[in-house]
Amino acid sequence: MDLSPAPAEVHLRADIRSWLYEHLPWEYGQGLPPRFDDLADEVTFGRRWQASLAADRWVGVTWPEAYGGRGGGPTEHFIVQEELARARAPEMVGRIGINLAGPTLLAHGTEEQKARWLPGILTADSLWCQLFSEPGAGSDLAGVTTRATAVEGGWVLDGQKVWTSYAQFADWGVCLARSDPEAEKHRGISYLVVDMHAPGVEVRPLVQLTGEAEFNEVFLSGVFVPADQLIGPEHEGWGVANATLSHERGTNPRQLVIHVQLLEEILRLAAATGALDDVRLRQRLAQAYVEVKIFQLHNLRSISRLSKDQDPGPEGSALKLYWSEMSKRFHDTAMAVLGDASPLGRGADGNPGGGEWQRSWLYYQASSVWAGTNEIQRTILGERVLGLPRPERAAPARTGV
Ligand SMILES: Cc1cc2nc3c(=O)[nH]c(=O)nc-3n(C[C@H](O)[C@H](O)[C@H](O)COP(=O)(O)OP(=O)(O)OC[C@H]3O[C@@H](n4cnc5c(N)ncnc54)[C@H](O)[C@@H]3O)c2cc1C
Repeated sequence: MDLSPAPAEVHLRADIRSWLYEHLPWEYGQGLPPRFDDLADEVTFGRRWQASLAADRWVGVTWPEAYGGRGGGPTEHFIVQEELARARAPEMVGRIGINLAGPTLLAHGTEEQKARWLPGILTADSLWCQLFSEPGAGSDLAGVTTRATAVEGGWVLDGQKVWTSYAQFADWGVCLARSDPEAEKHRGISYLVVDMHAPGVEVRPLVQLTGEAEFNEVFLSGVFVPADQLIGPEHEGWGVANATLSHERGTNPRQLVIHVQLLEEILRLAAATGALDDVRLRQRLAQAYVEVKIFQLHNLRSISRLSKDQDPGPEGSALKLYWSEMSKRFHDTAMAVLGDASPLGRGADGNPGGGEWQRSWLYYQASSVWAGTNEIQRTILGERVLGLPRPERAAPARTGV
């Protein structure tokens, strides 16, 4: 297998590097991102940053040019994401629109829906959230009970969603709701776009382990959704949701680069604290190096499949399972390197890293839950890759955020 890049790929990498050199505030490149007053401030900055990237078509690299994308393939997407992460650029504030809502619209939206929403997703003029999980429907997502009652000109939504990331900033939400309560569980669900500023939408932030409040409860009380905001056929939203989400797990260049950087930082920390003298810690660091290499190879295999127009398929679950467990082990190793300083929080004296490692450790605990829990990924792998016998029930298919 020839892994050397084609000339066009070398040029693309050079282009995005020089663009970032000119546009990225230098603090980011130094690994010293600004501390924002609050999440709202960070989101405001994130919108400006994403808009500047979109203006030069660095967002939606694989999207058609007609909607503001670059019309590239999976390798181009991978290169741009790798370079953004390598430069330590802020994560895209509109990522739910870019990674979830947008691809769904591209695959299942009408021409009017694409023209209406896709350009704003790329420029962050509109932010999106994903209204899927409910208090009684997470892994078992087909159990959603939010009702979509057909009325003149559309539907009326009533129900509750939960864990909705960035709902407090979102302009639109993609929502799974039960439109035919008589149909069997996986049928009778419709995929609707909800105006988050419509009457009847109430968003209540939830505080996470880190003390931040990125996700929310969302209450929908008599929210009207016009008929032209249905994606795909009525009652067939389950297929719409799953077709796109399975495609989204193909590669993860951002997590790849982040873990290379984390490893470098752990090594620096270990050298500074004298932890490298401990043979057991040296073994853990060597294992972390091997793991990140394996992750890199997984990613290359996925790009190769995607470049041949093959769906990443259920093997995408292996990638998610692998990196989320690797990230937890990395953070445990960082805590072992910190030793006595590991219980210290931000602002505490004598805390190497100023508490960032502790925050990051807390944050990554959720990585085995978001995008479908690791137990569910194992079930998918067991049943759909290894062909193990299935119990008499519908397989859980939760794969989104
Ligand atoms: C940081 C973060 C952001 C999120 N953002 C969003 C968002 O924007 N929009 C959204 O809709 N959702 C979001 N989620 C929700 C996420 O998708 C769900 O938390 C996840 O699907 C699990 O659902 P649950 O929390 O209801 O847990 P449950 O499904 O109740 O699971 C509880 C436990 O039981 C296990 N379990 C459940 N069923 C099975 C089974 N069949 N076999 C084996 N084990 C099982 C699970 O693995 C888990 O350990 C987010 C979650 C996190 C952590």
